[in-house]
Amino acid sequence: MTDAAPLTSPPPQTSTVVLTYSDDRKVATITLGRNDERAITLTPERLGSFINALREVKGSGVEGVVICAPTVDSFCVGADISLIQSVTDAERGAALAAEGQRAYDLLEDLPCVTVAAIGGPCVGGGCEMVLACDYRIITDAPSSSIGLPETKLGILPGFGGTYRMPRVVGLPKALDIILAGKALKAQQAYKASLVDEVVSPETLATRADEIARGQKPPKRRKVRFLDRILSSYPLGRSFVKMQAKKALLKQTKGFYPAPLRALEVTVDGLGRGRERGLTVEAQELGKLIITPESKALVHLFFLTEAAKGLGKSARKEISDLHAMVIGAGTMGAGIAGALAKNNHQVIVKDTSDASLQRGKDHTTKELGKLRYLSSFERAAVASRIDWLQFASPTMSRTGIVIEAVFEDMNLKKRIFADIAGRVHPDSILATNTSSLSVTEMAAEISHPERFIGMHFFNPVEKMPLVEIIRGEHSSEATISKVAALTTEIGKFPIVVRDVPGFLINRILIPYLNEAIFLLMGGHSIEEIDKAALAFGMPMGPIRLLDEVGLDVAAHVSKVMVHGYGERMSVPDFAEKLVALDRKGRKNGAGFYTYAGKESAPWNGLAHALGLPTKPTKAQTQEEIADRLILHLVNEAMKCLNEGVAGDDRELAKKQIDLGTVMGIGFPPFRGGVIYHAEKEGLDSIRERLIAFEGEYGIRYKPF
Ligand code: NAD
Repeated sequence: MTDAAPLTSPPPQTSTVVLTYSDDRKVATITLGRNDERAITLTPERLGSFINALREVKGSGVEGVVICAPTVDSFCVGADISLIQSVTDAERGAALAAEGQRAYDLLEDLPCVTVAAIGGPCVGGGCEMVLACDYRIITDAPSSSIGLPETKLGILPGFGGTYRMPRVVGLPKALDIILAGKALKAQQAYKASLVDEVVSPETLATRADEIARGQKPPKRRKVRFLDRILSSYPLGRSFVKMQAKKALLKQTKGFYPAPLRALEVTVDGLGRGRERGLTVEAQELGKLIITPESKALVHLFFLTEAAKGLGKSARKEISDLHAMVIGAGTMGAGIAGALAKNNHQVIVKDTSDASLQRGKDHTTKELGKLRYLSSFERAAVASRIDWLQFASPTMSRTGIVIEAVFEDMNLKKRIFADIAGRVHPDSILATNTSSLSVTEMAAEISHPERFIGMHFFNPVEKMPLVEIIRGEHSSEATISKVAALTTEIGKFPIVVRDVPGFLINRILIPYLNEAIFLLMGGHSIEEIDKAALAFGMPMGPIRLLDEVGLDVAAHVSKVMVHGYGERMSVPDFAEKLVALDRKGRKNGAGFYTYAGKESAPWNGLAHALGLPTKPTKAQTQEEIADRLILHLVNEAMKCLNEGVAGDDRELAKKQIDLGTVMGIGFPPFRGGVIYHAEKEGLDSIRERLIAFEGEYGIRYKPF
């Protein structure tokens, strides 16, 4: 991996806060850190010094206090996450929460005006801090945001967030923020009454000082009338609670305890006084912080942070990169949109006007979904893409070419042979192939060190992962630049070796194959898909096959058998269904039959494929899930042992975890395939694989 960011927990920060007074000593300013701190976190040490500062201010006779960060673009990101990870005892968790609460109670009780001057992220404990202030003003910079993401880490806001948020914005809005772990941009926060004023970064300090002196205080934002009613009366609160619980259970299927506990604590907290409300909040935080779900989510948090750091040395080099995307199909149009959205100039090339128009329509539709962009901003993004049938003979400004034409080695080779001589020798040549060898594709290219695989997932707009495939000759510089570009456009890169299926499809295919074997054993589509859902997968394997497209699945299956032999072979059901014009979701018929948003398992399947109508051997839901999931684990372990995700075993494990959660949808609360396997115990997994190998054959041959 390039620029290996530290995937271990960052070292604890040792900073304190800085207390200063205005010349006339009427305003005290508490600055939360030093200029050289990248992100202000709340370590126990900083909280302790914050408490000391508040005590001093309390007796100082000032008229007002301003709380700010040393810079206008990084307010406070809350508790140090490595601290959350380290807690294994509920009482200690509750005690840590109580300490934060104590600080914010002191802040709330100060006998003077308190103003939070927010610029950049103000989340978690940072947000809970400003909730205890009289006024909150925030800058309109794109980096400014405010919210409570704790439930995404499997905990709840424990520094008074569940208690104060509904009192500031009303119960419905508070639940919207807390249960989804949301952070709002400045204008959204203003609309939600979470902040009192939006200002420019240049005026933040002077305006905060003004308010602290009691001059021109902002007009109080009011909570919507209906929300006030729903928050104020027990009947209204229980109605909101019931609705929220229903929605939560549908969404999380009960796999995530944190939002459910947060719901109870937030709603019930409105009927409690401060002391009792905060005590319950701290106790519940203590219970959640030690759950396996929280530990797995924190593990993933660190993986995403580390992935964001990949290629950081090349960030400057790619900041103004001009791109060419070849192929305006599903993937090409999505990739072009992602680049243009992040300020890159893009040329998209295809062979016909009709294809180009389809691509253009696709990006226009997707841009239309980005409600946070104004129509002016949307038009600016669209104007960065040129849709061309004939590109100019020389393309000296093109810094990267991303090819996304049909999955055909000869076609791709021809395209790169033509383009390689027309772009600068330093330009990166990337293929979005999902199954062809990157090394082979680069074989006849001059300067193959600039050639690489950049495997986006479908739909590009939604899927956060990009597999960067290191060809035999890809240089570290090329890998770094592509990793930097990937993070710059908001995706997470993993760097993998050029093996059939790369990392993600290689792990996924045996699992999908097993679903076919289960069908062959007489298990129904519902039974199979339900078993995967019960494990926590976002969709069952049979439905996933339909989504991928059975023509594509059949093709990839051949690549895998060619690459790995008999253990990847599977009955040709996908091909047979394609021959019956059942290609999956895309033509409304696959294993399921689709009518608009509705779908049902195709009742002609057993007859068409000659399947038994009853299981030849009855199996429980857990046994079916085991048959499926053990394949993910087994193949992931094989990839780990073969260095497919890199030779550094610890880094490779983490890439596999991130990749399987983001690329396959492995349940985040299980922390990724390897994390899950190690928690279960590799010895027990190997034993089950051996037993399955005896029963079902070589496809279960253990790692
Ligand atoms: P697609 O069929 O939607 O689009 C391919 C486009 O390439 C078409 O518009 C076609 O006109 C154009 N094209 C063909 N020959 C061309 C040429 N010589 N010059 C310029 N354009 C040409 O295909 P897609 O689904 O977007 O897939 C593109 C690539 O991405 C494939 O390699 C595929 O394996 C890979 N991929 C696909 C997915 C997916 O789920 N669709 C996911 C990951 C990767």
